[in-house]
Amino acid sequence: MRDADFFRRWMAAAAAAVEREAARLTELDSPIGDADHGSNLLRGFVAVRAALSAEGPESPQSPGAVLQLAGRTLISTVGGASGPLYGTLLRRTGKELGEAAEVSDEALREALHAGVGAVARLGGAAPGDKTMLDALVPGVAELSTSYRAGAEAAEQGAQATVPLLARKGRASYLGERSIGHQDPGATSSALLLAALAEAVESSRTPAPVSSASKDAEETEAAGAAEPTKAGLVGIVLVSHSAAVAEAVAELARGLASGGPMTAVAAAGGTAEGGLGTSAERILAAAREVDRGAGVALLADLGSSVLTVKSLLAEGELPPGSRLVDAPFLEGAVAAVVTASAGAPLPVVESTATEAYTYRKT
Ligand code: ADP
Ligand code: MG
Repeated sequence: MRDADFFRRWMAAAAAAVEREAARLTELDSPIGDADHGSNLLRGFVAVRAALSAEGPESPQSPGAVLQLAGRTLISTVGGASGPLYGTLLRRTGKELGEAAEVSDEALREALHAGVGAVARLGGAAPGDKTMLDALVPGVAELSTSYRAGAEAAEQGAQATVPLLARKGRASYLGERSIGHQDPGATSSALLLAALAEAVESSRTPAPVSSASKDAEETEAAGAAEPTKAGLVGIVLVSHSAAVAEAVAELARGLASGGPMTAVAAAGGTAEGGLGTSAERILAAAREVDRGAGVALLADLGSSVLTVKSLLAEGELPPGSRLVDAPFLEGAVAAVVTASAGAPLPVVESTATEAYTYRKT
């Protein structure tokens, strides 16, 4: 049976592996990505280590709680597509494990299967698409042989991504040029399963986690919400860039002005001010604009879309929140105009989606 300490050791080993391999992961993300996979995961796993080593009443006491806290931390700190994907993997696995103080190896395998299934649904990817699933799927399947066999299968799966054509994520923009490079996410997935095998093989002595106090990075809702008319659908604009989100919000407000204006909030960039997605910013923005009539969220690319989807899947956004499938700028204008006119959420949503049909030539 495996207890909460075992899962802490797994996460500590994963953090150590990411620290060791961050430069290589970023290097793999250069030719077919944006050269940030290592730094993304490093930021995420350093935060996971801090969250798990914090003591006190909130310190997780069960395997399920350890993985859920780790997953939540990754979603809020990573800032790239891999954040919501790995966050979903760990959270779903943790949820499957429930609240038991100890879990069997079989229960862990089944929970991981469910976690990998949630990643596939969130990202819409399947094995062969040159993503983390190419390591996770064979790796988790081989766990029934042994933890070490699982780690090795994941490593082979990662290496087997080299000749594949990327069909999902940023690398898919390169088309044929993605061929010939190993997928960074598959590589980090192999590290995650190797860390699991390491935790199994290591002695029962707890890993030397520093008891650094938890630097709670709770980004509070910026209290700048102007009092707007109650009962209108709120709009949240999620972009990789704070400047883009703000500017599109300003444009949409400007074009909709004239009567009552619905609340529009921009959730752009990472909490550190870089390019990426911050779950905390999205949650704060959604709370800020929620007037009880629902919240329409529009997202630009990759991790913006995935982070919103994962927050919706976990029920963290205000009731009645929807990810709207629409072009970012045109959809934002359409959504703000219709919401300000008092339209209910389904109408705001379909009007924004319709913006896809306005051809420009
Ligand atoms: P970003 O692509 O936003 O910069 P990262 O560089 O941190 O994020 O992570 C990139 C990795 O995420 C890819 O190598 C791939 O394995 C994984 N990934 C991206 N999109 C998807 C998806 N839709 N499904 C599964 N995995 C994905
Ligand atoms: Mg990247």
